[in-house]
Amino acid sequence: MKTIWFITGSQDLYGEATLAQAEKDSKEMAEFLNGRLGDIAEVKHTPIVRTAAGAEELCVGASADKDCIAVIMWMHTFSPAKMWIRALKALKKPMLHLHTQYNEKLPYNTIDMDFMNLNQSAHGDREFGFICTRLGIRREVAAGYYRHEAVIAKLRRFAYAAAAADFCKGMRVAMFGNNMRDVAVTDGDRVESEIKFGWNVNYYGIGDLVSIADSITEAEIDAKMKEYTDKYEMDTDNLAAVREQAKYEAALDKFLAKENISAFTDTFQDLHGLKQLPGIAAQNLMAKGIGFGPEGDYKTAALGAVMQKMTADRPGATGFMEDYTYDLTEGCELELAAHMLEVSPVFAGTKPKIQVHPLGIGGKEDPARLVFDGIEGEGIAVSMIDMGDRFRLVCAEIELVKQPEPMPELPVARLMWKIKPDFATGAAAWIYAGGAHHAVVSTALTSEDIRLFAKMTGTELVIIDGKTDLNSFEQQLEMLDTLAKLRK
Ligand code: MN
Repeated sequence: MKTIWFITGSQDLYGEATLAQAEKDSKEMAEFLNGRLGDIAEVKHTPIVRTAAGAEELCVGASADKDCIAVIMWMHTFSPAKMWIRALKALKKPMLHLHTQYNEKLPYNTIDMDFMNLNQSAHGDREFGFICTRLGIRREVAAGYYRHEAVIAKLRRFAYAAAAADFCKGMRVAMFGNNMRDVAVTDGDRVESEIKFGWNVNYYGIGDLVSIADSITEAEIDAKMKEYTDKYEMDTDNLAAVREQAKYEAALDKFLAKENISAFTDTFQDLHGLKQLPGIAAQNLMAKGIGFGPEGDYKTAALGAVMQKMTADRPGATGFMEDYTYDLTEGCELELAAHMLEVSPVFAGTKPKIQVHPLGIGGKEDPARLVFDGIEGEGIAVSMIDMGDRFRLVCAEIELVKQPEPMPELPVARLMWKIKPDFATGAAAWIYAGGAHHAVVSTALTSEDIRLFAKMTGTELVIIDGKTDLNSFEQQLEMLDTLAKLRK
């Protein structure tokens, strides 16, 4: 079980009675928070911190504990911050500074100096905040009474992001083949990805998959076909083409399990030994939480796996999408997003149909794929790009809409959305930011989730939302570039 350590600061000055009370309060708070966050990670109470040595011991312990994904810290009393310097310098886990109190309301009739000395986080948390700022400690600050729903919601969001950041460490990504020839934005520095996020990204020959596929039995293909017909509508007579995909997915299941892979890429330029580009095989895997990137796009594949981890059991859909074409009707511009084949069925607004159509690229046999119309609702599109000296996340808030008319001739799954704040601003901002034509789209997450993930991993982030103004957006980009140059 993953844990979040609940750390309460104080000092020796107040005497045993006050410190015993602080310890009791802190334990009760940790227990309450465990009740509200325990499904994500166990909130573990730790002894109240009285000294620099105690603070250091806890922060070193949390940093070394593989199960600890984050710490929540707050100062019940005043806690002189020089005693936190060594501790904070040793802390390697994401921190949320919970600016709260044990008591919600003031006891106006009885309040005295004892009460003031015990309950002074307004005082102690400012001292603690100063030293964090002085040391340049990245942290999330949540202010409010710890039992209030708005505060709990912030803590839960933080816990989800911490779980995703923890999942990144040692996450393995397989690239079948390499990046699509000559394409720039899908490429990236794989060594830096591992240094920065912990993603272990490696190349495999497509032959590694082909040899497993060759060993798949008819019975294994039958089992996969049953899964397909249970979940989707068979809308083709070409069952042989679908069985070919079922074989690929059965082979991928074995490969991913054997190599402990959470995300993978393929490319239509390297399919030696495969008759079709994986279509329904990749689509069905994406719906099970596996990250996918086409054309060797390992960053999108990895980000897809991480964002699905971040959603956990929250309602909504998350998966890879590609910007394809627009309806540019003036004033109601819409984007049509799709891909050659690989759109996750989690985005289906209609029951997915299994169809077989030619693929005009790659020179292979007609691949089976799932075709459907998309869901509606608020969402985000997130793209990760490699700027050469750093990674950048571009997060755009979007509104998924019903396609205005049927598209009976379009042989792929599709989503349509409105760009915020309006097409002219949002699309231009995305292009100024260098956002890719590949993104991970989610209706389960918001830009707040991405902001937290970016903060925890120290990744540059720009957000395009209903308030985006192009002038200040361009200035922000210019400032980020200048800062990156200064850092060199
Ligand atoms: Mn693509």
